[in-house]
Amino acid sequence: MTNSRDVWVFGDYRNYFQNRVTLQLLARGRELAQAQEGELCAVVIGHDLQQWVDEYVAHGADRVLALDHPSLTAYQGETYTSLLVDLARERKPAVILVGATSFGRELAARAAKRLGTGLTADCVDLRLDDQGRLVQTAPGFGGNLLAEIVIPRHWPQMATVRPGTFQELPHDYERQAPVEWLPLPAGLKPERVRLVKSERLAPREQALETAGVVVCGGRGMGSKKKFRNLVELARLLGGQVAATRPVVYARWCEEGALVGQAGRQIKPQVLFSFGVSGAIQHTAGIGGAPFIVAVNKNPGAVMMQMADVGLVADANQACLALIRELKKRLRS
Ligand SMILES: Cc1cc2nc3c(=O)[nH]c(=O)nc-3n(C[C@H](O)[C@H](O)[C@H](O)COP(=O)(O)OP(=O)(O)OC[C@H]3O[C@@H](n4cnc5c(N)ncnc54)[C@H](O)[C@@H]3O)c2cc1C
Repeated sequence: MTNSRDVWVFGDYRNYFQNRVTLQLLARGRELAQAQEGELCAVVIGHDLQQWVDEYVAHGADRVLALDHPSLTAYQGETYTSLLVDLARERKPAVILVGATSFGRELAARAAKRLGTGLTADCVDLRLDDQGRLVQTAPGFGGNLLAEIVIPRHWPQMATVRPGTFQELPHDYERQAPVEWLPLPAGLKPERVRLVKSERLAPREQALETAGVVVCGGRGMGSKKKFRNLVELARLLGGQVAATRPVVYARWCEEGALVGQAGRQIKPQVLFSFGVSGAIQHTAGIGGAPFIVAVNKNPGAVMMQMADVGLVADANQACLALIRELKKRLRS
C-alpha cells in the first residue's frame, strides 16, 4: 500500500513519436493527479536532458526527476530498470505511466516485475475509481472486448498507453516547476547487453499519428493496384495513407500503415475509410477521429454506422471520383 497520490510519467524522449506519447501521458496524468490532489511528476533518464525537462514542465509536470549522465545516453534495459525501480521504491508513487513504445513496453514490464506489481499493457483509457485505484481500460481476449482492469492490492499502479490515445496539453513555456537533478547511484551493475548500432525511425513512419487527414483502405478496395489510388487521393488531400490488417497482410501497402490494436493509433481531423468493415481491432486505433467519411457497399457495416458521412458505393469507384473532382478543383 502507498500513501502517495503522485502520478509519474516516464519521459520517453528519444524521438518525436516517443516524445509525443510522453506529452500525451502528462495530459492524462495531470487529470489523474489533480483528481486525487497528488503531484504529476515526469521521470527522465538519459543525457543532455535540459530541453526535455523544459518540455515536460511546459506540458504540465509539477516536478521533474532527472537522471542525466553520459553513460545513460543510450537506453539500457537493466540500468534504466534499476534506476526507475530504486526511485519508485524510495518515493512510492501511486501510479507510473509509460508510453507503449517498444522501449516503454520493455522498461515497464521489467520495472513492474521488480516492483512486484501488476501492469496493464496498451491501455486505451485510464481513470480513477472512488477508492483512488487506477481503472485501466485495455483490449482483451484478442481485442474482442474492452476490459476494465484494476490492480487492487499492489502499488504502484502501472500501465502502458499507446501513442495517440490521449491529447497533449498546449505547451506553456512560462510554467515553472521544481526539477531534481539526481546523481547516478554508485555500484550500478554493468549491462549484459551491448548496444551495437541504433537508427532513428524514418519521419514518414511517424507522420500517421500526427496527420490531419488520413485515407484508410480495407479489403474492400479489392487489389493492390486499386489501393494505390488511395495513395494518390491522400497526396491530393495532403494526408497520409493507412490500412487494415488484411491489406497489410496482402502486402498492398507497408506494415507501418496498419491502424488498430496491433498497429497505430491515429487522431486525424478527417478520416476517410474505404472498404473497411469496422472490426473492433481496427476501430480501437481510430477512436480520436472527430469526423469520419466511410465508403462501403454494405450500408450495415460497422464503419458506416460510426461515420459522420456514409456513402454506399464501390470503394475504388468512389476514390477515383474524388480524385477526379479534386484535380478539377485544383486546376480551376
Ligand atoms: C488479435 C487481433 C488483432 C488485430 N489487430 C488488427 C489491427 O490492428 N488492425 C486491423 O485493421 N485489424 C486487426 N485485426 C483484424 C480485424 O479483426 C479485422 O479482420 C480487420 O480489421 C478487417 O479488415 P477489413 O475491414 O479491411 O476487411 P473485411 O472485414 O473483410 O471488410 C471489408 C469491407 O469492405 C466492404 N467491401 C467489399 N467490397 C467492397 C467494394 N467493392 N466497395 C466498397 N466496400 C466493399 C465490405 O462490405 C466490408 O465491410 C486483428 C485481429 C485480431 C484477432
